[in-house]
Amino acid sequence: MRKFVVQQHHATSKHYDFRLELDGVFKSWAVPKGPSYDPADKRLAMEVEDHPLSWGDFEGVIPKHSYGAGPVIVWDRGTWEPISGSLDEGQLSFRLDGEKLAGGWTLRRWGDDRRKWLLIKKRDDEAAEDRELPPESVVSGRTIEELA
Ligand code: MN
Repeated sequence: MRKFVVQQHHATSKHYDFRLELDGVFKSWAVPKGPSYDPADKRLAMEVEDHPLSWGDFEGVIPKHSYGAGPVIVWDRGTWEPISGSLDEGQLSFRLDGEKLAGGWTLRRWGDDRRKWLLIKKRDDEAAEDRELPPESVVSGRTIEELA
């Protein structure tokens, strides 16, 4: 099974790093507002550099003066499987089985900037217009504020 992880990261900007295991690395997107269960909430997801799979376990504070300095928590993790499409085609639908995120989701390339994608919940049984997602780390139970 392929892994996915979502790390909440308060660096220069606050965002969530959404990562899907593919071809031995984590393909990664920075999602400023984080995932939403509302299919009408299309969340901007900026493609960033691939990360090693070992990075998916990282929770802690990246030291000052290092790239991405600031606190990181493992906000969610689990496994994923493709439903249709591919990243090369600019549209990938997949199923997530995490502690917070579940059901069908789509990443779709958006606009002229090839790094720009939208992360969208599919309309399925798990979709919900206003589901509150718990802020705590699924590893330590701490919030990112507590960690910082
Ligand atoms: Mn980040």
